Amino acid sequence: MTRIASCSCGQLKLAMAGDPTEVTICHCLECQRSTGSVFGVSTYWPKSACLSIEGKATCWRRSSDSGRWLDNYFCPVCGSTVYWYAEFAPDEIGVAAGNFADPGFPAPTSAVWESCRHPWVKLPEAWPQDPKQGGLPE
Ligand SMILES: [Zn+2]
Ligand SMILES: [Zn+2]
Repeated sequence: MTRIASCSCGQLKLAMAGDPTEVTICHCLECQRSTGSVFGVSTYWPKSACLSIEGKATCWRRSSDSGRWLDNYFCPVCGSTVYWYAEFAPDEIGVAAGNFADPGFPAPTSAVWESCRHPWVKLPEAWPQDPKQGGLPE
């Protein structure tokens, strides 16, 4: 199965093979600013699952709490951040779950940066919820 992630205007598109290896909610303030929502939903895939990237993307590099870089790629026309590469996960590509625009997309199974969660956001108690970066290497 091929899944297509697209920016709002549609000029930037990624084709991804199969299912992501991880889907996680991130409550961190960077994700809040970057998505405009109160949490981000991130999907991680091996780089080899990315079949194509079409269209123009602008890269914006930020550093994390732990001082590592994260390169966000967004559409220069409509501004949607569609994908990213992170120093902590050199073999992976991150894609924003919402850009698949697919209500049937695999659900998250964990949450990180619980310490920044808006209190009205209630997640299933069974999910591992980490106050910081969770299982990802610091
Ligand atoms: Zn766009
Ligand atoms: Zn985050």
